Amino acid sequence: MAFKFSEWPPALTDSQLEALHLQASTYALAHGLLYLPVQPPLLPTSAIHAPLSLLPSPFPRRLFDFAQRIQSTYNVLYSRIAMDEDFLDQIMGTERGVGKVDTFTGQLWSGWKEIRDQGGVVQVCWIFPRDSVEFEAFKPLHLGLFRSDYLLYASDSDKLALRQVEFNTISSSFGTLSERVANLHRHLYSLTDYFNTSTWLKAENFPPNQTTAGLVEGLAAAHAAYNIPGSQILFVVQPSERNVFDQRWLEYELLEGHSIHVIRQTFDELASSASIDPSTSALFVSSIEISTVYFRAGYTPADYPAQSHFETRFLLERSKAINCPSIPLQLAGGKKVQQVLAQPGTLERFLGEDFTPEQLDELRASWMGMWGLDEPDGIQKARERSAGLVLKPQREGGGNNVYKEAIPPFLDTLSTEESQAWIAMELIVPPEGVKSHLVRVELTGSVKTEVVSELGIFGWSLFGHKKIVEEKQVGWLVRTKGKDSNEGGVATGFSVLDSLLLVDD
Ligand code: ADP
Ligand code: MG
Repeated sequence: MAFKFSEWPPALTDSQLEALHLQASTYALAHGLLYLPVQPPLLPTSAIHAPLSLLPSPFPRRLFDFAQRIQSTYNVLYSRIAMDEDFLDQIMGTERGVGKVDTFTGQLWSGWKEIRDQGGVVQVCWIFPRDSVEFEAFKPLHLGLFRSDYLLYASDSDKLALRQVEFNTISSSFGTLSERVANLHRHLYSLTDYFNTSTWLKAENFPPNQTTAGLVEGLAAAHAAYNIPGSQILFVVQPSERNVFDQRWLEYELLEGHSIHVIRQTFDELASSASIDPSTSALFVSSIEISTVYFRAGYTPADYPAQSHFETRFLLERSKAINCPSIPLQLAGGKKVQQVLAQPGTLERFLGEDFTPEQLDELRASWMGMWGLDEPDGIQKARERSAGLVLKPQREGGGNNVYKEAIPPFLDTLSTEESQAWIAMELIVPPEGVKSHLVRVELTGSVKTEVVSELGIFGWSLFGHKKIVEEKQVGWLVRTKGKDSNEGGVATGFSVLDSLLLVDD
C-alpha cells in the first residue's frame, strides 16, 4: 500500500512520547550527539544534546536512491567547475562577475587571481610554460567534501519529486551527527518498536548511515596523495564554534581509523603560526607540515573581520597543501554558479564529452526554475512571481535569503548594480500535512508540529591536474524544520537533526 505523508507520524500517547523523549535525550548525551552550550568556558565542562526528532521522517525510497545515484555526477561537475578558471573569472570575478558587486566574493576571487598571476602555487615551476602538463603537475590537488541539499517537491503530478536546494562546497556540516541521529532512531526502534504504531517502522526501512567513515576517507585520500610522512591535517575553525562535536568525530576517526593527526586552529591563531617554506611551498603550522587544510570556517564574511584574515586564507591557498576547499572550489559553490548551470549549454560545457544526454537531463530534472536578477526582465519577473519565489544573495550559512511577500519591498531597495549578486529561485513546495515530534533542550517537552525535511547527500572528490583522481558518494543527512520557518539552519532557527524512514509511495 502506498504511504500517505499527511498521516505521519503515527499516533503516540503522551506517556509513549515522554518515554521516547527520555530515551532519546540520554542516548544522544551518551553517544556524542552534542553541541557546546552557549558561551562555553575555554575548557568545556558540559554539553547539551543537539536538537533532534523523536521519529525518522518518511522519504520515498526511489527518490533517496536517485539522489544517491546522481551524487557522482555532481562530484565531477563541481570539480570541473573549480578547474575552469575562465568560467569562474567570468561568473564570480571582479571584472564581469559577482565579485564586481559582492565585496566578499570579490575579495576571495582577487586573492586567488593574484596567486595565479604570480605564477601559481609553486614558484619554482616558472621554468615551465603556464599551459604545459609539467606546470599543471606542480599545482596541488583540490579536495571537496560536498553536500547536495534537496527538498521533496509536491508537483502537479500525483507523485512526489526531488528538487535541489543548493550544492555546498565548503564546511558542509552535520555529517557525523547525522550518523548518530540515524543510530538513535534505530535504537529507539529496537528498544520500543515505536510501540507498534506503524507498519512502515521496520528495520529495512532505516537506511544505513556511515557518513563519518565516508567523509574521513576523503580527507585520508588527500593526505595519502600528499604523501609526506609526519605531515598532519589542519582544521581551520571558528573561534566561537558550538558545533565542535560534529568536527571532533572526524578527528577521532582520522586518528583511530587512519593514524592521521589533526591540528585545529582559527584564522587568528594561524596568523602567527602558519608559514610557507619558500623553497618547497610546503605549509607549516609551527613546525608541523600540513598535508591538507580542511575549512570549517571561511565561508562567511564574519570569519574575516580584518584584511589579515584574508591574508591568512591566501597564504594557505598559496601553499602546496591540499585545500578543502580551494578558493576556486569555494567559488564554484556559489548560488550564482548554480543558476548559471541551469542556462542552456552550461552543463554540456562541463559534462557533455563523457556523460550521456540522459545523465544531464537527470541532473536538470532535480532543479527548480532559476534566473539572475541582472537579466533584462529579471527584477520585473521576480516582482510578478514573488509569491512563489525565494531570492538568494552570494552567501552561505543561513539567514540571508528573502522570501515571498518580503521580495517586492526588498527589490525597491536593490540597486541595479547589486542585482548582479542575487538569484531568483522558484520555491519548492513540499508535501502538506507531514508532522513530527521535535525536541530541543530549551523546551520542556517535545513539540508536535507540521514540518519540512531537507535531505543532504554527502560526496567527496579529489581532483587537479585537469582530472578527477577519485570521487565518491558517502552518506546523508536530514534536517527537519517547522513549516512556518523559512530557513532550516540547525544552528540558526528551530530546525532539528533527523533521519530517514524509506517508504514506497
Ligand atoms: P544557505 O547557503 O544559507 O544554506 P540555502 O539555499 O540552503 O542557503 O537556503 C537556506 C534554506 O532556505 C534552505 O535550507 C531551505 O530551507 C530554504 N530554501 C532555499 N531555497 C529554497 C527553495 N527554492 N524552496 C524552498 N525553500 C528553500
Ligand atoms: Mg543551505
